[in-house]
Amino acid sequence: MPGNQLESTHEGDESAVDAQRGVGRGVRTGIFYHPGFSRRSYLTQGARLEDFPQALNHLLQEQRYILYQPEPISEASILAVHSRQLLEEVKQDPLCSTAWHSVGAVVMAAEKIASGEVGNAFSFIGAGGHHAGKNFFGGYCCFNDVAIAIRVLRDVHGIRRIAILDTDAHHGDGTRALVCDDPEVLHVCVCSNNYESEDGTNVDIATAARPWDEDPDAGYARTAMEGFRERARRFGPEFMFWYFGFDTHRGDYADIGLTINAYLPIARMMLQLSGEICGGRLEVVLGGGSRSDIARSVIPALIAVLGEAGSGS
Ligand SMILES: [Zn+2]
Ligand SMILES: [Zn+2]
Repeated sequence: MPGNQLESTHEGDESAVDAQRGVGRGVRTGIFYHPGFSRRSYLTQGARLEDFPQALNHLLQEQRYILYQPEPISEASILAVHSRQLLEEVKQDPLCSTAWHSVGAVVMAAEKIASGEVGNAFSFIGAGGHHAGKNFFGGYCCFNDVAIAIRVLRDVHGIRRIAILDTDAHHGDGTRALVCDDPEVLHVCVCSNNYESEDGTNVDIATAARPWDEDPDAGYARTAMEGFRERARRFGPEFMFWYFGFDTHRGDYADIGLTINAYLPIARMMLQLSGEICGGRLEVVLGGGSRSDIARSVIPALIAVLGEAGSGS
């Protein structure tokens, strides 16, 4: 098989089977993290990621996980999505000091997936993204990381069709404002609204439709998966983002009674679905959530699910 020599040790029957399954050749999982995210963060001013990256050590002993340290994003990339005025305001906000590295992480992860260097990725952030629009920001968000990454995927890698699942507790208003007129972005947001645009590419699914008949974890996971899966299949993306907040967790600031048992089924579904419809190209982007104990228990477990793409099983 001709191609990338670095990949040559992975060539063979197994990778052919992976390719047929749609997992693709780059089945390693990239983890994108900057030390600044633990020291200071818009969300928590430091505390929530205090156990990272050490909490990933057991994963990083395995070859299928690769840890990357991002560079800050360029001003040109920010200005492709945001106004000059927003950029200047973010510069004045000391709580946005990690915003450049945060977007740098999300964009770097997207590019490593697009190039096939990794199969999928988890991107940490210090400052959030989904409440940042062209000319507004807030709610712990500074620059819209996912929207900027979409621009880079299009401009540099020719990837057009993108699907986003947002399971942060709050409505992704910034992302919605930036992608709502774009028929090549499917944005499914699990929040407190119920909405579907005429063309079906902008969707809100209310968790306020509770009480669920089952326990909150099962009910939430089912709501998110049913809301996204068939729409994504019909839409046919080339790349999927999962904007993952754990602010929905029991005891965190937007508690809707969830535990890790809500997140892991969604992770498995996203992994399976990305393999089925877009060659495994899935990036998980960290959103809200403030407690370090929750971060420590949830995030490594979620990354371990992403790593199942490279387990050969
Ligand atoms: Zn939130
Ligand atoms: Zn929403």
